[in-house]
Amino acid sequence: NRLSNDFQFIDVGRQDPQKKDARARSREFAEIYEPYKPQDAASQAHRCLHCGNPYCEWKCPVHNYIPNWLQLVSEGNILEAAELSHKTNSLPEVCGRVCPQDRLCEGDCTLNDGFGAVTIGSVEKYITDTAFAMGWRPDMSRVTWTDRKVAIIGAGPAGLGCADILVRNGVKPVVFDRNPEIGGLLTFGIPEFKLEKSVMERRRAVFEEMGIEFRLNAEVGRDVTIEQLLDEYDAVFMGMGTYKYMEGGFPGENLAGVHKALDYLIANVNHCLGFEKDPAEYISFKGQRVVVLGGGDTAMDCNRTAIRQGATQVSCAYRRDEENMPGSRKEVANAREEGVEFLFNRQPVAVVGEGKVEGVKVVRTRLGEPDENGRRRPEVVPGSEEVIPADAVVVAFGFQPDPPAWFNDHGIAIDERDRVKAPEHGALPFQTTHEKIFAGGDMVRGSDLVVTAIYEGRQAAEGILDYLGV
Ligand code: FAD
Ligand code: SF4
Repeated sequence: NRLSNDFQFIDVGRQDPQKKDARARSREFAEIYEPYKPQDAASQAHRCLHCGNPYCEWKCPVHNYIPNWLQLVSEGNILEAAELSHKTNSLPEVCGRVCPQDRLCEGDCTLNDGFGAVTIGSVEKYITDTAFAMGWRPDMSRVTWTDRKVAIIGAGPAGLGCADILVRNGVKPVVFDRNPEIGGLLTFGIPEFKLEKSVMERRRAVFEEMGIEFRLNAEVGRDVTIEQLLDEYDAVFMGMGTYKYMEGGFPGENLAGVHKALDYLIANVNHCLGFEKDPAEYISFKGQRVVVLGGGDTAMDCNRTAIRQGATQVSCAYRRDEENMPGSRKEVANAREEGVEFLFNRQPVAVVGEGKVEGVKVVRTRLGEPDENGRRRPEVVPGSEEVIPADAVVVAFGFQPDPPAWFNDHGIAIDERDRVKAPEHGALPFQTTHEKIFAGGDMVRGSDLVVTAIYEGRQAAEGILDYLGV
């Protein structure tokens, strides 16, 4: 028990779950971390200091009750921990796997001061995986069903977070997605070495048991109109993500062998999951020298996918230094272990080649004054051009929202960066300029994180409940 050793963090160091050997794991599309054994999860959870002001909770975007569920795990009380962790998070097993914990909860753990943060993410994943394996399901026995129903556009983390809160309050969510499976980028973006697809399949079954209905292969604006949704449902939530590809804007970007990051990743997922409609869609880098441009999570996923496909060399060129990379540190370290070479302070200026890619011309950069976001701006070092030889190039510069034409017809306002205007602290949280339509996730805040999309979906659901008077 807790009193038996309040100084566990001194005797027991931080211990991440066992990681598969880099050579073995870089040949397969499977998660790289082994599950915790119960005694390891308990002793790691017991390292928590229960500081009076848990900074981890504040830093976690959904404000998980972290010290409380760590204590339950240290006592072996997994089912209660699962109940508690689902009070604030709709997909804790996903966040435990893919959150950049070093920048969020674990980054603010008091034990970071020389002892090593508690492995919060891994324990969070352990709780839900173990509880599901024990047969635990969210308790819906006290839900009183209303006659209200809400249409949700998008089965990504924002849409799922919204549906979770609505169904627990007796409001029927019907989720429309153009994809053949739920998850949004969790399924058709993030590769299996970070999040195996069986995790979302299991979650889909749980959501369906709870009463959430999914209408898949259904694109709003093509297979069903927004007018139909507004007529047939009491409110609408939009969690449609950001899918407009950001171009580099340099010469050679259209040469054969240059690929958009998400096209490449989706083609690989479709190939691995059997969703491929035409084998010609699959992009394989087997036996090729690949240069990935960018420094975020998407770039890291492309690097590691290329390694697994059998590329002979994978280099990742990024215009700032390692310290200023937006991607998760943990994933950068994993990529490096698997053989990715990082070329920091390199800015691409052209893709070169006769009819097809032969290399990427880059210039060296040094960091100058901070920009409006406080990140130091890269400045070009004169006379530093070089060409990195390549057979294939992946451009991973991020994504922007892509508002459909029907926004205009229904008075749904967007800002100067095409993001839907749906303020958290408006009259009702995440209500758009159309009173019956709410929105959240990447399409409101711009490309961000799974956990922030979940948070916004859940908060928007609270706004919808208020709107419906439930
Ligand atoms: P999405 O997940 O994009 O879901 C939107 C859904 O809406 C999609 O399923 C789409 O098909 C559907 N949709 C859109 N329009 C329509 C329509 N008209 N009709 C029907 N359906 C529609 N974040 C992390 O926290 N950790 C990571 O490790 C991480 N890795 C990433 C790796 C990659 C390659 C990418 C691209 C992103 C990554 N992210 C990561 C970011 C994270 O995935 C997103 O921030 C998050 O998925 C956004 O959730 P969302 O629900 O807003 O949108
Ligand atoms: Fe940490 Fe993310 Fe879990 Fe919050 S949701 S505790 S930030 S891993």
